[in-house]
Amino acid sequence: MNTNFQRILDEIYEETLPLLGQGKVASYIPALAEVNPAQYGIAIQTLSGEAYQVGDANTPFSIQSISKVFTLTMVFGRVGEALWSRVGREPSGNAFNSLVQLETENGIPRNPFINAGALVCTDHLVSLASDPLLNIRNFVRELSNNPGVNFDESVASSERQTGFRNAALINLMKSFGNIENDVDEVLNIYFHQCALMMNCHDLARAFLFLANQGVNPWDHTRILTPSQAKRVNALMQVCGLYDDSGEFAFTVGLPGKSGVGGGIVAIIPNQLSICVWSPELNSRGTSLIGMKALELFTTKTGVSIF
Ligand code: GLU
Repeated sequence: MNTNFQRILDEIYEETLPLLGQGKVASYIPALAEVNPAQYGIAIQTLSGEAYQVGDANTPFSIQSISKVFTLTMVFGRVGEALWSRVGREPSGNAFNSLVQLETENGIPRNPFINAGALVCTDHLVSLASDPLLNIRNFVRELSNNPGVNFDESVASSERQTGFRNAALINLMKSFGNIENDVDEVLNIYFHQCALMMNCHDLARAFLFLANQGVNPWDHTRILTPSQAKRVNALMQVCGLYDDSGEFAFTVGLPGKSGVGGGIVAIIPNQLSICVWSPELNSRGTSLIGMKALELFTTKTGVSIF
């Protein structure tokens, strides 16, 4: 394995920069359409305490669906295996916001990372926590070791005004009895978790517990059991990039999670976490440069879980 990470990051940056302009920023959430597309950063955090970066690694961005890993972790850590009676763990093979399977599968989403499954996790959290928003924010602050992490209210309200598809998903699940709480309350929490602003370093630090068998390396608290951490990683592997998950496994070979803000985080068990951010997306909603950068990372370092 080649561990000259700084040199590798510099090479990847130079080789992928010409791809800027080939993707499109997400426009279905108006606040995301306003993001400068020509931004690009990468950060690595190792379990042995080293950090590396290139480009705009210190610029906060909207983490969007990467937040689904945090809420899944919060709920799975508290309710355990009971979670799987309300959400599955199979890839969907459909777009992240598709309504198609939900009707035929009786309101049980395929997995916790498509929007419907994430809404079920958020609904669980609303049932469990007296102040779910504060809980999510504090949890992410602890994992990222950054007390400054916060929600961007303008992104949350932009998504609230245009989130008709998420409203359709949650109402359909409510009709099947798979949502316990008020749909508007759950949607409000969901739009806020997606509107968390974090930079590449924050996210690389925040995912390191998944490379560390469930223990937060910053304060040594156990977040998940080793078995639960393994399961979250397995879910990221098979469903973390929606209908790009097969391509991601094929070309990158690491558990990862994407968001339509252009971030992708991936982990190498027992070693490190890496976050790439570039807001221009491919046709399946994955960061175009992010995917290529991670492919080059595993090729150049010679690491993969396979
Ligand atoms: N907030 C976005 C939505 O619900 C998240 C999608 C994503 O990042 O994949 O549509």
